[in-house]
Amino acid sequence: MEDKEVMISFKQAQELIESFIIPVSTEVTSFTRALNRVLAEEVISDVDMPPFNKAAMDGFACRKADLADELDITEEIPAGKKPMGIIGPRQCARIMTGAMIPEGADFILMKEHAEITPSGKVRRIKASANANICHQGEDVRTGDIVLTRGTRLLAAHLAMLASVGCTAPLVYRKPAICVISTGNELTDPGRVPEAGKIRDSNGYQLSAQVSQMGLSADYLGIVRDDGAELFKLMAEALVKYEVILISGGVSVGDYDYVPEVLGKLHVDILFHGMHVRPGKRLLFGKKGSCYVAGLPGNPVSSFVQFEVLVKPMINRLMGCTGRPLILLLPLEKAYSRKKKDTLLFVPVAFTEKGTVIPLEYHGSAHIHAYTVAMGIMEIPAGVGEIKAGEMVHVRPL
Ligand code: AMP
Ligand code: MG
Repeated sequence: MEDKEVMISFKQAQELIESFIIPVSTEVTSFTRALNRVLAEEVISDVDMPPFNKAAMDGFACRKADLADELDITEEIPAGKKPMGIIGPRQCARIMTGAMIPEGADFILMKEHAEITPSGKVRRIKASANANICHQGEDVRTGDIVLTRGTRLLAAHLAMLASVGCTAPLVYRKPAICVISTGNELTDPGRVPEAGKIRDSNGYQLSAQVSQMGLSADYLGIVRDDGAELFKLMAEALVKYEVILISGGVSVGDYDYVPEVLGKLHVDILFHGMHVRPGKRLLFGKKGSCYVAGLPGNPVSSFVQFEVLVKPMINRLMGCTGRPLILLLPLEKAYSRKKKDTLLFVPVAFTEKGTVIPLEYHGSAHIHAYTVAMGIMEIPAGVGEIKAGEMVHVRPL
């Protein structure tokens, strides 16, 4: 068999993927269903925020110049009510947080800083310089761009959409994604594995990783290490899906049918192998508008490569312009490794001091280590030792 495998660096893999991904088309959705979707338009505010000068506290709206005097109460202004009158000399209005400041007033005397005299007037009992007024348009002005194209919509973004009345935003479509597990050794999790078998975990792990992105994947189940069976399933999946996540069978062993089957199906293999651990044998291919990520079967390899490579790929496919968050934090205690030839991803926890502590980790089958991990630390190729206190790159999970 012709050897088409190309080993590249992780950075080259990232760049290749970035250059190949073309975002999916767009659609209008209801903002109530837009959580985790990516905005495909700029959103412009149709209002000032706040829309009027607004009380920031419960208290008495008055003239700053009158604060030393006793004040007559002219009216009560709860939130949502338009003030009836103007505040004149030695007058005030009882006002609630969020209510419109009446004309003439330039100060809210906090309720806690005032008392009512026996004759029903308001008297200041504690001085404070803060006027407690939020000014019209101080946060956002009418016509301002409040959200940009490529933004992943989270809770605060939904609040923004609601606030400016953008109830039908234009977003990128959700790509159609499927997950496939391969391996003769795999058993359904509900069964007790026979000798030589293990339970399939990757299928569920990958599906959950997709779900955590606010998307969903069809899990097509376990395929045996059988070229014909795999060919049939992949041929169908390539027409039906835009992303195929297939775990196992991507290496160069006799039972690793994925590369061969993809070749027969005319999938362009962009790369097959990176100088990285875990996940060295990752395969990435494209056919038409379908992208195929062949993830190594070891659960940690599959987990980590999804996080560091596949997730940014899907984000890009969904039109997201944001970059993955990578923090630079000090290492809690010294770290060393014997083989320093490749980039290495290591599970870590964060301490209360804000440092990073590597977790006990036995290699790419040790998924249990990731059940307590808070992040993935990157150790660059060539680096064998890191001293305590040195800064390291970590992707929070
Ligand atoms: P492979 O990449 O197919 O050579 O598999 C590498 C290792 O990962 C083997 O020990 C497999 O048994 C294991 N493995 C493969 N697929 C899965 C899966 N779906 N769930 C859990 N472990 C798997
Ligand atoms: Mg296998």
